[in-house]
Amino acid sequence: MSKVQVLGKNIENTKIILDKIIPDIESRLGISTDFLIKVRLHDTRKSFDKQLNRKTSDWEVGNTSDKNEIDIIHEDSFEKYSSHPRDDFPRILKHEISHIYINKISDGKMIPMWLNEGLSMYLADQMTQYRDKGIFVENDYLSKISTEYGWNKYSNYSAYAYSCLFVDFLINKYSLNKVVELVKKLKSNYSCNAFDKLFLSVFNKSLEDIEKNFVETLK
Ligand SMILES: [Zn+2]
Repeated sequence: MSKVQVLGKNIENTKIILDKIIPDIESRLGISTDFLIKVRLHDTRKSFDKQLNRKTSDWEVGNTSDKNEIDIIHEDSFEKYSSHPRDDFPRILKHEISHIYINKISDGKMIPMWLNEGLSMYLADQMTQYRDKGIFVENDYLSKISTEYGWNKYSNYSAYAYSCLFVDFLINKYSLNKVVELVKKLKSNYSCNAFDKLFLSVFNKSLEDIEKNFVETLK
């Protein structure tokens, strides 16, 4: 199992949460590794922004680097420095830890943003917040939210909700194993056409068709 180093003040509760989160993610993904994960707890938004070297938005509370390092606002400071209730902390921490494991599985390959975010949200049990809420849907939305450019454009417009609900749909219809297989087989570079081909080979159905099926299930 991965080892975790927690840095900051009042780290005990975060450690307890991590002791539950990590075995759960490892067993669901069917992997066990021994790499080191660093979690930095930030007391203030200022400290969080300083570490990330940019001005973050109100709703942004966690960030994962490709060096297995997580920066997150301390749960005691959640309500003061973000738009999240304190109760969101364990799921957001689990979301960030999931990114690290997905990164491991993909072996650093480029992963479409909707798949990376959607699978992290699935593993962190964040679907419920989006169920039964209205969302905006564009045609071929997944292809628009694949790249970082597209994701940043739509991240305030249902991109998270759509990705999360789509990945949940995909896993319920097929399996988590199939989605993990897709992540494992990713190519070094992302291109829409190459990804569509890979998707078809794993699911025996095109991404376009499955996306259409998914949109039909939305109320
Ligand atoms: Zn994320």
